[in-house]
Amino acid sequence: MQIDIVTIFPDFFRGPLEHGIIRRACEAGIVTIAVDDLREFTSDRHRTVDDRPFGGGQGMVLKPQPVFECVEALELRPREERARAKQAVVLLSPQGHKFDQSVAAELAMVERLVLICGRYEGVDERVGMFLADREISIGDYVLSGGELAAAVIADAVIRLLPGAVGNEASTRQESFFAGRDAAPGRGPSSTCGSGGLLDYPHYTRPADFRGMRVPEVLVSGNHQDIRRWRRRSALAKTLRNRPDLLDGIELSEEDRRLLAENADPAAAE
Ligand code: SAM
Repeated sequence: MQIDIVTIFPDFFRGPLEHGIIRRACEAGIVTIAVDDLREFTSDRHRTVDDRPFGGGQGMVLKPQPVFECVEALELRPREERARAKQAVVLLSPQGHKFDQSVAAELAMVERLVLICGRYEGVDERVGMFLADREISIGDYVLSGGELAAAVIADAVIRLLPGAVGNEASTRQESFFAGRDAAPGRGPSSTCGSGGLLDYPHYTRPADFRGMRVPEVLVSGNHQDIRRWRRRSALAKTLRNRPDLLDGIELSEEDRRLLAENADPAAAE
């Protein structure tokens, strides 16, 4: 995969994408990340990328010309052919569709991904209408610029690329993963994979830290009990923190029993 990040602050990315899994994925050639400076596509002495809004109002607007020219210089396929060519141009915007794990999985299938970072009051609307394939928001809050959002998306996408995470199974056992285990009509198989739920709680040594003990079942060596406990804990945490996720997945018979046990621990006995 090649990722291009279009920004007026190329130095911003010196830190966030140069550590851990992302750095190793770059070194292994799994992904190439290029940061494209919008100011290279200006022609005036001050390298101006913004201008006043038509109709008046607060702040400045990122001009269309440098954004169009920068993306055109990347020589992608015409917009109508991009999906088939496994290319995607994304405009970061609080007005976009909400980013989540399924969007990350979708973007992980493309071969070329362009992330356009807005600034100021936003980007001239023609960029979203005629240049980008989609607008994506990372959440219902307003950031000062699209750079943090681009870093979030790049991170979430890259860790899904084959070979990026040492133990690939671990990306299938994380929160939100709704892969084969949660196929419609089948429901999650109640394995340790999240099946669209939040992840189960993790513990490591020591078993007793300042009097706080790990749950006995995890040191019991009984794998069936551990699997059930993890699934029950994932269901409980999802119900507590993100009940909306439960609406989107099909629960197995065992899941329903485990949920009932959460509501009434006596039912577990
Ligand atoms: N005036 C815009 C509005 O109210 O919707 C906010 C513009 S914001 C200050 C500047 C830039 O930050 C946006 O163009 C976008 O690229 C980026 N940005 C801000 N919040 C974002 C979010 N939640 N998700 C993705 N990008 C965001």
